[in-house]
Amino acid sequence: MLVIDKSQTYDIEEIIKQGGFNCSCGKYHGTAVNDMVISSGAVARIPALVEKHGGRKAFLISDLNTHEAAGKAVEKHLDAAGIPYVSFVFRNTHTEPDEKAVGEVALYFDSGCDIILGIGSGTINDIGKMLAKLTGRKYIIVCTAPSMDGYASATSSMIRSGIKVSLASVCPCAIIADLDIISSAPEVLLQAGLGDMLAKYISICEWRISNIITGEFYCEEIARIVRSSLRKCVSSSAGLKKRDPEAVKVIIEGLILAGMAMSFAGSSRPGSGIEHYFSHLWEMRSLQFHTPVHLHGIQCGVATILALYVYDFIRMIKPCRQKALDYVRNFSIDTWNEFIIQFLGSGALPLIELEKNERKYDRQKHAERLEVILANWDEILDVITEELPPETYVRQVLAEAGAPVSAAELGHSADCIRDTFIVTKDIRDKYVASRLLWDLGYLDEAAGYLKQKAGM
Ligand SMILES: [Zn+2]
Ligand SMILES: [Zn+2]
Repeated sequence: MLVIDKSQTYDIEEIIKQGGFNCSCGKYHGTAVNDMVISSGAVARIPALVEKHGGRKAFLISDLNTHEAAGKAVEKHLDAAGIPYVSFVFRNTHTEPDEKAVGEVALYFDSGCDIILGIGSGTINDIGKMLAKLTGRKYIIVCTAPSMDGYASATSSMIRSGIKVSLASVCPCAIIADLDIISSAPEVLLQAGLGDMLAKYISICEWRISNIITGEFYCEEIARIVRSSLRKCVSSSAGLKKRDPEAVKVIIEGLILAGMAMSFAGSSRPGSGIEHYFSHLWEMRSLQFHTPVHLHGIQCGVATILALYVYDFIRMIKPCRQKALDYVRNFSIDTWNEFIIQFLGSGALPLIELEKNERKYDRQKHAERLEVILANWDEILDVITEELPPETYVRQVLAEAGAPVSAAELGHSADCIRDTFIVTKDIRDKYVASRLLWDLGYLDEAAGYLKQKAGM
């Protein structure tokens, strides 16, 4: 049994081979990923991996772009190995991970296929994992771009009844990233992967803060795995613009590990914090109001800069018990609900339901959290100092890769940024910076500060 403690550096290949490790936090952290192949020419390994995982006939899912980029090569290798397959290609130019796409691929599914191969990145992978869940088949992902961290996760980010939801699906048993293929991915997908990695500065910081304030489980070993991947990604970001295969390798590895870290933790904490909530909210608004929307990782990159402004504000404040209690006494849940309905349309309804169960706005619960915050303020500030780089640094890393760095580049006004920020506290049940600021009675001032920074 593999055991990892603070004195060791982890060996991810060994962790995957063993299916997980016994951690110094007292938990066993498992992953269902048995094989991870990241190399030049990795697609040639597909027939052997299909056979290793018991596949006799494969069902391939791709779209027009990913079929061209990788699907044809996968088919060629399966043909050469004499493994039969059915290849489904989404023919429309833009596929959303929704009922229509899952329904369409399900109607074409050949029940004689005993293994599913997703060939793509975000959307194709989300749909492929859902189909694997619905059909009970094993799932292999052939990555076509280092664009997001969902490869090693057992959830799919879907749109259901017009609302963005995260659903339990299936973790791939094998992840194949052929550097010859992913290095040729469109530039914006490479930039998106970097943005999704930079988000990890915030997610680890908020995970630790939540551990202090709410007692939520935190594991330093998992955080260490994510930090180390993040460091490598940042130091190779300059190579992305040149499509240097080594830089691309570091990014895809970082993204796969970040996804795996989330399965280790049993939550999205190691990989997603308030910056992801900005991104989710922009997607939710675009579904309702057709406002601008960009790739997940592109949005996360810009939102990481916005989150760093928010933490700059947190560093400047002096918590005050009376101010916080007065603020919460004057808070009206009815007025608040009206605001989020206006901001998100029917997308606000699940948020309102969530609060009915969670009751984070309950005055007694607030008073208890406030005492913990006041008693641990110095420690919270230390976490922020330890985990977060200056905003200018992240801006430079993104700019070097040619990625957007401002809300304006994404088509959002400073007012929209302010409103998005204050709604981030409601979209999931995680304790993030906006909740901390609400607890301290500083939310509106922080929102004003962010609006001013975002507008500059
Ligand atoms: Zn642990
Ligand atoms: Zn992400």
